[in-house]
Amino acid sequence: MAEKRDYYEVLGVDKNADEATIKKAYRQLAKKYHPDANPGDKEAEAKFKEAGEAYAVLSDADKRAAYDRYGHAAFDANSAAGQASGFGGFDFGGMDFSDLFEGLFGSGFGGGFGGFGGRSYSYGGGATAARRGADVRTMVRISFSEAVFGCDKEIEIAYKDTCSECGGTGAKKGTSPETCSRCGGRGKITVTQNNPFFGQMQTVTTCPECGGTGKVIKEKCPNCRGLGYVQTKKRFKVSIPAGIDDGQAVRLSGAGEPGSNGGPRGDLLVGVEITDDPKFKRQGTTIFSTVAVPFAKMALGGPIHINTVDGKVEYQVKPGTPTDTKVRLKGKGVPVLGRNGARGDHYVTLMVKVPTSLTREQKELLTKYSVACGEDPAKA
Ligand SMILES: [Zn+2]
Ligand SMILES: [Zn+2]
Repeated sequence: MAEKRDYYEVLGVDKNADEATIKKAYRQLAKKYHPDANPGDKEAEAKFKEAGEAYAVLSDADKRAAYDRYGHAAFDANSAAGQASGFGGFDFGGMDFSDLFEGLFGSGFGGGFGGFGGRSYSYGGGATAARRGADVRTMVRISFSEAVFGCDKEIEIAYKDTCSECGGTGAKKGTSPETCSRCGGRGKITVTQNNPFFGQMQTVTTCPECGGTGKVIKEKCPNCRGLGYVQTKKRFKVSIPAGIDDGQAVRLSGAGEPGSNGGPRGDLLVGVEITDDPKFKRQGTTIFSTVAVPFAKMALGGPIHINTVDGKVEYQVKPGTPTDTKVRLKGKGVPVLGRNGARGDHYVTLMVKVPTSLTREQKELLTKYSVACGEDPAKA
């Protein structure tokens, strides 16, 4: 596939273009490339979509700002920019460009292009509209340090793959789904009923013949039994960003359930479960741990080693440090999700280590120490 074009270039507007200019540019392109004005023209359809996507971004102040800052990466769930912009994994495929379109032109645009609006096209609207597939959720378990530093995980999920035999239509090779004769492809039928109070009533219901799709398959594809997809297993690589927290999820665009009527696939949401660590506790981007320091070192001061997620660091204990003293190791905490280089802090609680078994010599020295402090070791 070709490289994604710059949104400003797509709409043919200047980077500083104001809202009205962007709207006007999109309106012209949408008119020109609308599928109903270009029946069967795949290139026009692609251009229509491309313009719709560009407009969806540039007409929204937040998305435009994210795009100006990060480019297309702003909408990529697997990039740091996507994480930072807050729009990562923003699903253009699932967007209903027709809403956008109708919002601009209103329904009055109607018959201009020969039945425009009367028939549903593949971008939504109406019963037979393209529908985005459902999102699929799965979990992956990672270690404390994998969550802190990010990691790549391979996961295998049950996956409905487009049937290679029929290309997803569900119709036998060489045939294609036909327009439903019962509803004329509308997906809905009007039923006239006699009501004892109100007389004849007309209600619109989903066509029972085609189930609302507007199409019937005469000869089903034997490979997928008419479903359009086959159940397989698929492996995905999931890039888990540094700083992810327990319960958060990574979105893989287009890895969910297949859409219907040519709609795009849903997404795969990979939730993260973080295994507890024996040494470290975490709260957001802050890490907590405890270190036991010998009494003499707490009293006299001196260097100690503290375990951090980056390895051991040396720390100078101040003379006369009481037990339960909290020490902050700046920037040794968890990376802030999506903010390159920014990290939380690590708080260490220094606890006095009380010896539980003493040699004779140590006992004598401690007794001497006690006496020197004016205490009587034998008295309460
Ligand atoms: Zn098939
Ligand atoms: Zn029907």
